[in-house]
Amino acid sequence: LFIVLEGIDGTGKSTQSGLLAEWFRSQGREVVASREPTDGPWGAKIRATALSGRLSPEEELDLFLKDRRQHVEELIAPALAAGKVVILDRYYFSTMAYQGSRGFDPAEIRRQNEAFAPRPDLLFILDLDVDSALARIGGRGDTANEFEKRDSLAKCREIFMALKEEPFVHVVSTDEGPEKVQAAIREIAAAHAPA
Ligand code: C5P
Repeated sequence: LFIVLEGIDGTGKSTQSGLLAEWFRSQGREVVASREPTDGPWGAKIRATALSGRLSPEEELDLFLKDRRQHVEELIAPALAAGKVVILDRYYFSTMAYQGSRGFDPAEIRRQNEAFAPRPDLLFILDLDVDSALARIGGRGDTANEFEKRDSLAKCREIFMALKEEPFVHVVSTDEGPEKVQAAIREIAAAHAPA
């Protein structure tokens, strides 16, 4: 069973991934929980350069693809083959959204990724309006930098939302507290994979 959580910054993906992993483990399932960018060499490079700024969009996209190829080969594919539950905090839908917001064609990014990266059984898109998201990550959206951030998060959200009609995709509002969000996720996961 392969589950991915996506959404713009501030939607609580890592909290929800952790709670979901706990729930599957409590049912005796073996769980591999991971995130992207990964903690491997390419992912570490992405995180370091994101902090220091200034990679070209092309270099950035290239690093995400390298990171993901390694993630799929070394962790995701073997865990799925062994029948484990795999839960990811971000995957190639984030690349469609974020690098899409920086000028690449999301459909082309998707094609590149689906050539090697397995599609999840369930994709949860955690949703929140951009103003609330900015408030949660600690910006009011009124400095030049925050203005840019607001604009780019709005584009990301739009790209995520364009996926919402696909059968494996579930949009979950995060207006309410983390417990309610987790309950909504578990209900869908249970219907898909009865314990
Ligand atoms: O998920 P996490 O908050 O650790 O992501 C780190 C940052 O990397 C996010 O703030 C997001 O803006 C950025 N990111 C990105 N492109 C991606 C995935 C994440 O720019 N494909």
